[in-house]
Amino acid sequence: MNRAPEHVAIIMDGNGRWAEARGLARSRGHEQGAAAVRRAVEAAVRLEIRTLTLYAFSADNWRRPEAEVNALLELFRSFLEAEGERCLAEGIRLSVIGRRDRLPDGLIRAIEHVESETAGGRRLDLRIAVDYSARDAIVRAAAAAPAGELSREEFRELLARAHHADPATPDVDLLIRTGSEQRLSDFLLWESAYAELLFVDVPWPDFEEADLRRALEAFGTRDRRFGAIPTAPAEQHPAVSDAFTRIEADVTIIGAGLAGLDCARALAERGLSVVIADRKRDLKQGVHTTGIFVRRTIEDFSLPPSLLGPPVRRVVLESPAGAQQVLESPHDEFRVGRMGAIYEDLLQRAILAGARWVSGATFSGARACERGSLVKLEIGSERLLVHTRFLVGADGARSRVAAELGLDTNRETIVGAEEVFTGVPSQGPPSLHCFLDPRLAPGYIGWIVDDGRELHLGVGGYADSFNPAAALSELRTRVAPRFDFSRAELVEKRGGLIPVGGILPRISTPRGLLIGDAAGAVSPLTAGGLDGAIRLSRYAAEVLAAAVERDDPSVLALYSGAEYQARFLSRRWMRRAISAVRSPLLVEAGCAVLRTPLLSRLAWHVFFGRGSFPEPDRSGLARLGVAEG
Ligand SMILES: Cc1cc2nc3c(=O)[nH]c(=O)nc-3n(C[C@H](O)[C@H](O)[C@H](O)COP(=O)(O)OP(=O)(O)OC[C@H]3O[C@@H](n4cnc5c(N)ncnc54)[C@H](O)[C@@H]3O)c2cc1C
Repeated sequence: MNRAPEHVAIIMDGNGRWAEARGLARSRGHEQGAAAVRRAVEAAVRLEIRTLTLYAFSADNWRRPEAEVNALLELFRSFLEAEGERCLAEGIRLSVIGRRDRLPDGLIRAIEHVESETAGGRRLDLRIAVDYSARDAIVRAAAAAPAGELSREEFRELLARAHHADPATPDVDLLIRTGSEQRLSDFLLWESAYAELLFVDVPWPDFEEADLRRALEAFGTRDRRFGAIPTAPAEQHPAVSDAFTRIEADVTIIGAGLAGLDCARALAERGLSVVIADRKRDLKQGVHTTGIFVRRTIEDFSLPPSLLGPPVRRVVLESPAGAQQVLESPHDEFRVGRMGAIYEDLLQRAILAGARWVSGATFSGARACERGSLVKLEIGSERLLVHTRFLVGADGARSRVAAELGLDTNRETIVGAEEVFTGVPSQGPPSLHCFLDPRLAPGYIGWIVDDGRELHLGVGGYADSFNPAAALSELRTRVAPRFDFSRAELVEKRGGLIPVGGILPRISTPRGLLIGDAAGAVSPLTAGGLDGAIRLSRYAAEVLAAAVERDDPSVLALYSGAEYQARFLSRRWMRRAISAVRSPLLVEAGCAVLRTPLLSRLAWHVFFGRGSFPEPDRSGLARLGVAEG
C-alpha cells in the first residue's frame, strides 16, 4: 500500500454547473467554490498533506465573459486578503503559480504581500494556480534554457521559475479532478508525469473532507511503480464503504424539515460550521404538512411570497349534520406554503452560507466524547461519523435524537393524512373548511383548504380511534356534491404524526437540544407547528451560537421547555376537552352554541386571533450580552 501522498493537486471543476443546476448565477458557484477551498485547506492540514496545489484560473479562462473573469479575479483578491492572515496564524505557506504579467497590479501586490508574509509557514505548502498553463510554462522554460545539453533536473528548475514556483516542490503524487470531466486541462503536465489520477463526480462546491479522505484511501490502494516492476504484492485494503469517514462540525442537525433547515441557515449565517443531515434524498418528497402559515408567522419571518399561495380570509366551520358557520376576516389570515419549494429554498440559503448538506443519511446513534458527541450517519452502505460540538434533534415527533440525548420525548400525538389535488374548480373565495365531526376526525378536524391553486383535503385524529384512509374517502364522498373532483389530479399524498401534548420540559442538555416537532413545539389546540418550528429554531440558533462563541456548553441551559409550560396550560386543557368529546350529537350542540353571537367571537378568536407559539424569553441571552439575531 502507498504511504500518504506528499503532494496533492486538485482541478477544482464544477462551480458554474453547480450554480446553474440550482438556478443561481455562476458567480454564486464561484463563491461556494471559495468556501470549499477553505474546507480543503483545513482538511489537508489535518490529513498531513505537505503540498496542496489548486487550479483556480487557467490561461484559457481569459476567454470567458469579461464580467465573469473580473468577478473571479476580484473573488481571488478578497480570498487572498481573508486567507493571508489565517494562513500566517496557522503556519501555512501560501504562494501563487502561473504568469503574472497579465494580472491587474492590485492583485499582483496582494499576491506578493501574502507570499512574503507566509513564507515561513511549515505545516502546509498551499499553491494556487492562476493564469496557469503547463504548456506555456514548458515553452517559456525552453526559451530560457542556455545552449547545450540540459539535465532533467536543470530543466525542472527552469520550468519552476517560468511559473513562479519553488523548484524544491516535489512532483505531484495524487491529482484529483472534481466535476464530471476527465481531462488534465493543461495542468502540471510535467510535474504529474507519475501522478495517480482520480476523477470524482462531485462538483467542487460540494467537495468535503470526506471526499478528500476517500481519495487518499483510493490512492493508498494503488500500486505505484514509477515504471518499475512491483516490489511486493499490493496490500489488501478494506473497502472504502466499510470504513467510517469522519468530519467535524460545531453543530450537527438531524432532520431537514422547516425547523432543521431554518436553524441550519441561521447558524451558518452566523459563521458556525454546520452539518445538516436527513434520511430523505429529495426534500420535495414525503412532505408531512399542509403548509398553512398563519398571519403572524408571515409577518414576523421573511418567507418568499412567491412560494406562498393566495391569501385566505374565510373559514367555514361545518357541524356533523352539515350546518355551516362562516367566519370572515378583514386581513389575509393564512397562506398555504409550497412546502417542497420552501424546503429547497431554505436549503440553498443554508448551503450558500456554508452549511454542509448530507442527504440520504439516517441518524443511527450518538455517543458522548471529549468536546461534544460522535454522531453516526448511515448513507446506504457507507457510514459517516461527525464529531460535533452540539447535536440538534429536528427529526420530528418520534425523535431518535431526543432519546439518544436522554431528553423528553412526545407522548401524546394525533395522526394527520391528506391528499393534494389540482384541477378542482374553486367554490368562491379562498377558504379553509373545518369539519368538526368525531366520526370523521376523532379529537381533531377534517379540513379542505381551497386557495384557488391547490385543494388540500385532510383528516386528523387519535390513531387508535380511526382509520385515516377510510376517513379521507368518507370526507371526499361527503363534499362531492359541492366540489367537482371529476377532472381532479391527485398530485401528492401527505401524512404524519403531530405531537399535541405541548412543548416538552427537558429540551436541552450540554450536548445539544431539540427543535420543532421533536421539542413538541406544536399548538395542542390547533395542531399548528410551522410557527413554533421557526420561532423556536431561531432562538435555538442564538443559544447555540452563544455556546460555541463562549466555548461553554452550560449556555444551553438557557434553552428550556419548562418556561413555556404555563403558557401552554389553557391550550392543553382545551385539548383534553376536545379529546373527551366523542359524541356527534354533543359536537352538533357545541357547534350550535358557537354560532350564537357571544361564542362566535370565541371561534373568530381561535382562527384569527394572531395566536402563535409563545415568543421565547431572551433575557438570559441578553444578560450574556447576546443581541437578538
Ligand atoms: C398532515 C399534517 C398537516 C399539518 N398541517 C399543518 C399546517 O397546515 N400548519 C401548521 O402550522 N402545522 C401543520 N402541521 C404540523 C407541522 O407540519 C409540523 O409541526 C412541522 O412541519 C414540524 O416541522 P419539523 O421540522 O419539526 O419536522 P418535520 O417536517 O417532520 O421534519 C423532520 C425531518 O427529520 C427527518 N428524520 C426523521 N428521523 C430521521 C433520522 N433518524 N435520520 C435522519 N433524518 C430523520 C425526516 O425525514 C424529516 O425530513 C401538520 C402536520 C401534519 C402531519
